[in-house]
Amino acid sequence: MQFLTKLRPRMNQVNQSLKVAIVGSGPAGCYAAAALLKSFTEINIDIYDRLFSPYGLVRSGVAPDHSKIKNVQAQFEKTLSDPRCRFMGNVDIGKDIAFSELHKLYSAVILTHGADSDRKLNLTGEDLSGSYTATEFVAWYNCHPEFADRHFNFSTKRAAIIGQGNVAIDVARILVKPVEQLALTDIGTHAVKALSNSTIEDIYVIGRRGPVQAAFTDKELKELGEISDCEVVIDKSVLELSDIDKQELEQTDKVKRSNFRVLNELAEMPSRSAKRRLHLIFFRSPVEISGNGKVENLKLEKNTLTGSVGNQKASGSGVFEDLPVDLIFRSVGYLGNQIPGLPFDSNRGVYPNERGRVLGADGEHLQGVYTAGWIKRGPSGVIGTNKACSVETVNSIVEDGLTPSNGDVDELIKQKGLRVITFADWRKLDAEEIRRGVEKGKEREKFVSVEDVFAFLS
Ligand code: NAP
Repeated sequence: MQFLTKLRPRMNQVNQSLKVAIVGSGPAGCYAAAALLKSFTEINIDIYDRLFSPYGLVRSGVAPDHSKIKNVQAQFEKTLSDPRCRFMGNVDIGKDIAFSELHKLYSAVILTHGADSDRKLNLTGEDLSGSYTATEFVAWYNCHPEFADRHFNFSTKRAAIIGQGNVAIDVARILVKPVEQLALTDIGTHAVKALSNSTIEDIYVIGRRGPVQAAFTDKELKELGEISDCEVVIDKSVLELSDIDKQELEQTDKVKRSNFRVLNELAEMPSRSAKRRLHLIFFRSPVEISGNGKVENLKLEKNTLTGSVGNQKASGSGVFEDLPVDLIFRSVGYLGNQIPGLPFDSNRGVYPNERGRVLGADGEHLQGVYTAGWIKRGPSGVIGTNKACSVETVNSIVEDGLTPSNGDVDELIKQKGLRVITFADWRKLDAEEIRRGVEKGKEREKFVSVEDVFAFLS
């Protein structure tokens, strides 16, 4: 099939103009665009995304039952609708267009493509069938086109989630929440179908440190206690704090103190007979995943904490225990990947940078190359955290100044025969997803395959 890309001509057709490419249309990219629009009256911004849809993790990371968090999309939509901005979906920078090609055509490039893979645990058995990353599970239920065809076996009684961040809590909630409630959200229909066959009864969410150090936040934790037909199980003895933990709790931020209060409330809840139990397990590190061709057992080592207040690390005690499970989700943090041809700090999964200016091997700023969001600072914080991060980067751009460019990306796109999904295309897709959702009695029915998208738009 032949597709013609109808790109909206640039607002200001003068050859020499300030042109900025933003790679990644998630929160960091949208906040960076908004800050640029504020700082430069005359500017042309092209926001690239390898997917057909904008908004990054707001669409494919935020849990389907957290629709309020997605309200931020309205702000991003306003930015992308500005006549000085163009959404350039379905263009993979690094594959469809090399970074060096892009760089030449713009006054500056801002890399905001996030952290799309996951940290490895480097455990024996990590890759056994039945052991998955939280990243792939989240992308699957959220209809990310590269993950929607994954299969997870929920015909099991016991599952474990390794890690105690908010992603682990999201995964746990999706696994225990009554599927008829999930079905009303924008979750993939394929996920509802698979989860409705789930026989899971016990889910273990495993943290290597204690309740004072856990990475989840209070609001998300509290929600676990409100899920119908699910009991949260916490061994009360883990809530008896050491002196150093008590000091840490006093000195730490209010979210951690609130976490601890909520954990106590959850532990005090009377035991009830429920279809599912969600066990919050502390002071345990995974040491081995084993089984006959598939996950059957997770070996854990009991930990104690060593180190000073606010800096306590998990330390193995040499005492091991087995947790028989058939399904494991590893949720120990996202990891960023580089676009070929750019300097990269592979340990941290970020572009080396100084206030958003990408630095080369010699520590000098690569002229015209900037970064923001998770690929700048690592996978931390909530969506709003990216605003300050992107503003910092745009402030660096303002300090450095932009040189007008006469680059013509539209010509390159034409030469390469790329089919760009424009913001006008996206608006049609968006309206159709909502329409299909209404038809099915849910918030939205997302497109899951690129082929369907093109068939609809053609
Ligand atoms: P995270 O908050 O960094 O949590 C990672 C978890 O993995 C921690 O419990 C960490 O324990 C554990 N971990 C790391 N390496 C480990 C290892 N080798 N063995 C065992 N455990 C290990 O990451 P995330 O959950 O992926 O979340 C990423 C960011 O997105 C966070 O800022 C999060 O708050 C945010 N987010 C927010 C929401 C929301 O607001 N609702 C939802 C999803 C995500 P240690 O603490 O001991 O390192």
